[in-house]
Amino acid sequence: MAFYTSYGAAGEVTGSCHLLHIGKIKILIDCGMFQGGESGLNFEPFGFDPKDINYLIVTHAHLDHIGRIPLLVKEGFNKKIISTSATASIARLMLMNSAGILETKEEVLYTTNDAQTALQYFGTHLECHQSMTIEEDIKISFKNAGHILGAVSVKIEFFDEGIEKSVIFSGDIGQQKRVITAPIEYWDKGNYLFVESTYGSSLHSDLTISIEKFRSSILETLSHGGTIVIPSFALERTQELLYLLKQMSQEKLLEKIPVFLDSPLAINVTKTFGNYPKLFSKEIVELIQKGENPFDFEELIHTYSKESSLEINSHTEPKIIIAGSGMCEGGRVNYHLIKYLSDPKNLVLFVGFQVKRTLGEQISSHENRVKILGTEVEVKAKIDYVSGFSAHADQRELLDWIDTIEDIYCVYLIHGDTLQLKTLKEKVKTELKEKVHIVKMNELIHL
Ligand SMILES: [Zn+2]
Repeated sequence: MAFYTSYGAAGEVTGSCHLLHIGKIKILIDCGMFQGGESGLNFEPFGFDPKDINYLIVTHAHLDHIGRIPLLVKEGFNKKIISTSATASIARLMLMNSAGILETKEEVLYTTNDAQTALQYFGTHLECHQSMTIEEDIKISFKNAGHILGAVSVKIEFFDEGIEKSVIFSGDIGQQKRVITAPIEYWDKGNYLFVESTYGSSLHSDLTISIEKFRSSILETLSHGGTIVIPSFALERTQELLYLLKQMSQEKLLEKIPVFLDSPLAINVTKTFGNYPKLFSKEIVELIQKGENPFDFEELIHTYSKESSLEINSHTEPKIIIAGSGMCEGGRVNYHLIKYLSDPKNLVLFVGFQVKRTLGEQISSHENRVKILGTEVEVKAKIDYVSGFSAHADQRELLDWIDTIEDIYCVYLIHGDTLQLKTLKEKVKTELKEKVHIVKMNELIHL
């Protein structure tokens, strides 16, 4: 008998946590943190006993897919965590950083010690195009999801009372055209699909147009002698920006303009990316083979220490500052915003989705005044938003991903808000003519 229950990212985007029972074997797929308005759920019980889990498969190292692993271990999970080696390396950085932030909160979800303990269970690596037989009748395999470095979708093949079946978990699927990420790989067969629906009702702007907007916004501000502040996510988005800025540097467009990478996490992630030179797009792999570092250029300055970060603001000339956090909820970007937000010659350039009620959303929706670290700041700088860098597939790309798969019994939609889920459901039904269901939290689904 095989069945499935979701304990997170069902009817919402964050907290990915999916439990698959195959006979007596229990396989957990991801154990992510609830974020934004749902973060209170992190303090609720898992809904299952972590001691009973036989395997944890991790699709990728975003916190909404790995952020509760230290809690899982704290509550008794002590088996193998299976992931790509890149995901294991990045997860180390993300979990230690997350624990450091959590330790400063009033109610501590877990500590850096808990994160360190949990990291010991990583180390069973499965790479794309490889398979692993984990039990006599259960085989797992990975394909590149095109989302972030190391991210995969997972196929689990098994025999259920003599009948051969397969389940595919999409993980987070990327766009077909990306700046540095290797392209998505498609599955040809699968019976039960669990598919993310983050942008199930949306279509993204074209990447080429977004890159052009990114470049022209920066050049226009520099021509007026302004400073550009880019709130950026440390994982993948920052490395994409570094590569685009490297191209501008090679075209001699940034001469004498320092570019500060002001985030210890982003600096560490960028270094870790260097350990996986074959996992990028063809263009980046070729560049690395020629001995070039795609994420470094003459004008780039890493400011790792707090002191070197604070020194940036004594630099009076035009400059570019890339700092976390991506939605301005904490991190070094806050004191740069206090310094540069009230001068009309500067630019604050958003390069990722801003969740409602975050400081980033307030600024990007052109509020006149915002409160940062207790200080009222007037928003007079130019505010721009480049939307096409998304690490997620849009509706068309999700449908294409599903459409390549044969032998589907049912498509189960997860990891999306209500509108996205409902719109994608209708499209899967009418366009692809597949049976489709929106998964609810704690719902028991027989396979
Ligand atoms: Zn993700």
